[in-house]
Amino acid sequence: MQPIRKIVIVGGGSSGWISAAILAHDFRREVLDVELVESEEIGTIGVGESTVPPFVELIRNLGIDQQDFIRNVHATFKLGIEFPDWHRVGESYFHPFGWIGTPVGVHDFYQVWLKAKALGHPSELQSFAPCTAMARKKRFMLPEEAPPKTPLGSAGYALHIDASLVARYLRGYAEERGVQRTEGRVTEVRQKEDGSIASLVLQSGKEIHGDFFIDSTGFFSLLIEKTLGIEYEDWLKYLPCDRAVAVQTENLGEPAPYTVSAAREEGWTWRIPLQHRMGNGYVYSSEHISDDEATAKLLSFAKGKTLIEPNIIPFRAGMRKSFWHKNCVSVGLSAGFVEPLEATALHIVVRSMHHLLRLFPDQSCEPALINEYNRLMQQEYERVRDFVVMHYSLTDRDDTPFWKHCREMEIPASLAERIELFKAHGSLRQGIEELWGPVSWQSIFEGMGVRPRNYSPKVDNLDFDRVGEMLGQMEAAINGMVDQLPSHDAFLRDRFGAIRA
Ligand SMILES: Cc1cc2nc3c(=O)[nH]c(=O)nc-3n(C[C@H](O)[C@H](O)[C@H](O)COP(=O)(O)OP(=O)(O)OC[C@H]3O[C@@H](n4cnc5c(N)ncnc54)[C@H](O)[C@@H]3O)c2cc1C
Repeated sequence: MQPIRKIVIVGGGSSGWISAAILAHDFRREVLDVELVESEEIGTIGVGESTVPPFVELIRNLGIDQQDFIRNVHATFKLGIEFPDWHRVGESYFHPFGWIGTPVGVHDFYQVWLKAKALGHPSELQSFAPCTAMARKKRFMLPEEAPPKTPLGSAGYALHIDASLVARYLRGYAEERGVQRTEGRVTEVRQKEDGSIASLVLQSGKEIHGDFFIDSTGFFSLLIEKTLGIEYEDWLKYLPCDRAVAVQTENLGEPAPYTVSAAREEGWTWRIPLQHRMGNGYVYSSEHISDDEATAKLLSFAKGKTLIEPNIIPFRAGMRKSFWHKNCVSVGLSAGFVEPLEATALHIVVRSMHHLLRLFPDQSCEPALINEYNRLMQQEYERVRDFVVMHYSLTDRDDTPFWKHCREMEIPASLAERIELFKAHGSLRQGIEELWGPVSWQSIFEGMGVRPRNYSPKVDNLDFDRVGEMLGQMEAAINGMVDQLPSHDAFLRDRFGAIRA
């Protein structure tokens, strides 16, 4: 066995530096050399500022002090996403992190609520979600600090981050642990006779050798596609948006502890509050609106003075047909992209590294390891894709050609099966280690007007007079606790020394 002694990462965007930080944490420098090559002249994509809860775990697992991280990357807390106008114009729903309600004996809370609702109980599902209650009142606390066995302990959270500050922070982390950074544009990739990658040649003429390569070159896909020729599976038929325009604006007022993703006539806009500014973007379908019109619309929606020129970003939703080929793994945008609606891209970067480390090869890169990695990554992308497609396909809107298209478009068979199963009596098909658990699926279904035809007959065991009382107490307990919490803004400033632009 010839162990891998040197890994070369190409690309210093979020995916390159997350990969470098994970490798630096997991390997002693005497065992593995890691070199990261990036080109300041090319730059990074500069978006990717909303995360999901496992991102907080990444920071913790790397041994990074959360307080230090939040202060340095000017982060705010995220309790979920508000989705105005997706089901119908004028309606809005919330996708919370954490849990909704608590099991009633052996019974799943959702099933109990479904029957209570069928019997005329007035409360909405989200009334039992601690994150939704905190978001509505713009209050915050760390769930791990909630008194034991109280509803707020079942909340969850992620972060809104400044992407360039995160790359800088993780660069510092990785360099301190021995990762070598090399500035320069890769202009040639040299291959061995068997097609695997031997070395990279920079514009300066410098040649960099490695045993294993990580392609984090973003949409350039320099190694995986341009060198190794691995094709891309396009998902335009399921995900109609193919461009975004992004702009940063000054903050007006206190930052909200959630992302707003509002449906618009030809796509949707994001609003991501940071401590020092607001990130805004319009994700749209180029079939339905031009770049200039989308930019004008975004500027009319974004509040506050703009801080940078609007940036147009074309993208193709889809994934690589293989993520790992010979001695190269693609991580980040070079591997695939399920548009940003649920802010899952950085999470998939972390999952890529998780699977790579579990299957870490020697220099022979055995096909069995490669095949398993590719199977797992395909599953990661497809699960996230199905969850995002659901937001579009379940719409009732037919007010613009874009939304008519979404109502009528083909959806993946795997999603169609999940929807049918849910409609029967609220069952969910859950895979192992899935990012989106029952609360997420139930929240989107409910927000998009899909309620199961029946509840599970098992809950007939319960006394529903008693259940009605208990639901009332649960809702009151959540609201009572949330009312005592500090505002998100005060929490950030007092506990995390947050700045305020
Ligand atoms: C519109 C939009 C919104 C998004 N929003 C979110 C979000 O809210 N949450 C989320 O998790 N993700 C989001 N993403 C995805 C997120 O931006 C990316 O996953 C993340 O930034 C990682 O990108 P990357 O590092 O793969 O690529 P990039 O940031 O593009 O980095 C590529 C790197 O490769 C280098 N490079 C390229 N070619 C060469 C070369 N020849 N030689 C040397 N270096 C080279 C570049 O210099 C750069 O350092 C969004 C993406 C888009 C398009």
